[in-house]
Amino acid sequence: MVSPLSHQLLLHIANEYGTPVYVYHAEKISEQFAKLQQAFSQTPTRFFYASKALTNINILKHIRSLGCHVDCSSINEVKLALHAGFEKENVLYTSNGIAFSEIEEAVSLGVNVNIDSLSNLEKFGNKYGHNYPVGIRLRPNIMAGGNLKISTGHEKSKFGIPIEQLDQILALVKATNLHIAGLHVHTGSEIRDVEVFMKVADIFYDLVPHFPEVRFLDLGGGFKVPYKEGEAGTDVPLLGQKVTEVMQKLSATYHRQFEAWFEPGKFIVSECGYFITEVNVLKQSGNTVFAGVNSGFNHLIRPMFYEAYHRIENISNLDAPKHPYTIVGNICETDTFATDRPLSEIREGDRLVFYNAGAYGFEMGSNYNSRYKPAQVLVIKGQAHLIGKRDVFEDLLRNQVIVL
Ligand SMILES: *Cc1c(COP(=O)(O)O)cnc(C)c1O
Repeated sequence: MVSPLSHQLLLHIANEYGTPVYVYHAEKISEQFAKLQQAFSQTPTRFFYASKALTNINILKHIRSLGCHVDCSSINEVKLALHAGFEKENVLYTSNGIAFSEIEEAVSLGVNVNIDSLSNLEKFGNKYGHNYPVGIRLRPNIMAGGNLKISTGHEKSKFGIPIEQLDQILALVKATNLHIAGLHVHTGSEIRDVEVFMKVADIFYDLVPHFPEVRFLDLGGGFKVPYKEGEAGTDVPLLGQKVTEVMQKLSATYHRQFEAWFEPGKFIVSECGYFITEVNVLKQSGNTVFAGVNSGFNHLIRPMFYEAYHRIENISNLDAPKHPYTIVGNICETDTFATDRPLSEIREGDRLVFYNAGAYGFEMGSNYNSRYKPAQVLVIKGQAHLIGKRDVFEDLLRNQVIVL
């Protein structure tokens, strides 16, 4: 087991690079990937890191060095992945709601493509016919995921081709001679229940006879990681065991080999990340004590956007008695990170760390209120390396065209 980064190291990084700062731990990423590989060692499986969780090139390079592949949600993520050195065969582009020209660009770059609408599937068939193998993203009508904003497989979701349109898909495949190489379903994020993946596997089981050229079954991402103390994540070893059973059954039934594909984002990078802030002001209001930090939802939006829970610690005063604090940011908008959270006594200037900040943290950040985006630091073998500079004033003006 990889130990978390020590409080001393985090304080040292805060002193060295200033706050707010995102810190990532390379060895933790390696450990998460090793867990996946181990759990699926008995069946042919490919893992594509969902890079939208964190796209820093150094993170991508580290993940590539582990033998992990990469899933992209935009053509620019595809270009970043290629820039980081991923081979085109190991890049997967899972599009949704995009112009066909972007799919053409992905094809010209030679990467794997999943298509999620009948309309683009038809254009694809007309242009490439049987010449470019492609995956189709289906919407299975399964409700799953941490909350509605991150659920993508239910019957009102925009994602994927609704499974009840199978006849139309098959007609298109026939009419344009499409080469369907894979089936894809991503039901959402924060899926703890292994059975959700098994439901998807059942659907694949019934669909395979319709697609004789299918060789990969892509079960998406969405593995849950623990955010709260004592919380359980997805049971990855159990998932590995069950998927292995299904894949063996599939091979036995249909007399050919299938690869299982997965696209974990959060599972790979969430726990490697720490977000360090500094307390600007303490404010008493009735029974509430606000601790206002030098950040806000411009840097970490998950608590406000998803009502996500992030564990917080006051690493400047760890041994002090605990009191309830409401942790807020400095944005001109309500930006509450935590309400009445018991934390070691806070003094102005103390450093508060938010855990599980690797996935969808920096990546969903903005310059709202004209604040700078934080610096990013990667710790490799105990050594801190700056991998993303804090914004400077010029960054706020960079794309502005001055006409007055
Ligand atoms: C976001 C996304 C993922 C990754 O989800 P996580 O919850 O980070 O694992 C995987 N596949 C697709 C298609 C996605 O949109």
